[in-house]
Amino acid sequence: MGFEKIIGHDKIISFLKTAIKNDKLAHAYILEGQEGVGKKLIAIEFAKAVNCKNGTLGCETCSSCVKVNNDNHPDIYIIKPDGNSIKNKQIEEFQNNILLKPYESSKKIFIIESADTMTVSAQNRLLKILEEPPSYGIIILIAQNSHSLLPTIRSRSQTIKFNKISKKLIEEYLIENYNIKDIDLAIFSGFSDGSLGKAINLYESEEFKNRRETTIDIIDEIIKGDKLKLLDYVDFFEKNKEYISEILDFFTIWFRDLLLLAETEENRYLFNVDKIDILKNHVNTISYKSISKSIGIVGKTRKNIDANVNFGLSIETMLLNLQEAV
Ligand SMILES: [Zn+2]
Repeated sequence: MGFEKIIGHDKIISFLKTAIKNDKLAHAYILEGQEGVGKKLIAIEFAKAVNCKNGTLGCETCSSCVKVNNDNHPDIYIIKPDGNSIKNKQIEEFQNNILLKPYESSKKIFIIESADTMTVSAQNRLLKILEEPPSYGIIILIAQNSHSLLPTIRSRSQTIKFNKISKKLIEEYLIENYNIKDIDLAIFSGFSDGSLGKAINLYESEEFKNRRETTIDIIDEIIKGDKLKLLDYVDFFEKNKEYISEILDFFTIWFRDLLLLAETEENRYLFNVDKIDILKNHVNTISYKSISKSIGIVGKTRKNIDANVNFGLSIETMLLNLQEAV
């Protein structure tokens, strides 16, 4: 693949390349940023570039680069969560492994995926490794939120923050690789929230499309104000409990579109560009104040669910409060 195939993150790539060229590598890096933004891709390209035998930062043809591309490089390890977290036992294996010199390269590289899921005991063990890393060891921690890591781990690592990828770059990629056009393009790049991985997943997911359609039906129902029917939808939320954050996003984004439309009558910045008729109808039905109140209700529901308030109750309350607000 190579660094040049990565979408966005030019500054990070050039920073890492310079570190390799100047032989100024840190023992530990934290790659921090939202899911699907390209952290793991860059970690692997970085590992490839560090160990490239031609010294060209990833020639793609030497035996080392070929092994990385085939996922069987003997000096590059990827550690993934075992279930929901990275366990102490996994870090113990890593601790024993890093003591052994690299097999064929100058550096031995360990990439820890979802490092922010490490248990406290695993983190304490990792800290021991970071306190005295062998000269040939490079540890790359991939995390959505580095603040889930112990401050002592953070202070011994170089943190690299990944920003969202621009809408323009995501759209270019979707056009080139998936031939997505027009309204679809605007929807998937819009909902991707700056994550290319998410844009691709959304495009490939029928369920995503169905969840979005149902959510819009529910909002339509709320605005029409049919109380009995509304509670029928509680089932939909229960069935899609694991996607609740996405569904609440649909709500928030819909109401934001309404605010935008109420303020400017400008279509260009809308997310739900394919639903313009329904949006216009809603803007004509409810007041500006009701729309902003609705955004607050959805936000409060999100907080309640995050705080483990009873799920069904939170949803029912949200639906009824929304109905009252509009
Ligand atoms: Zn190479």
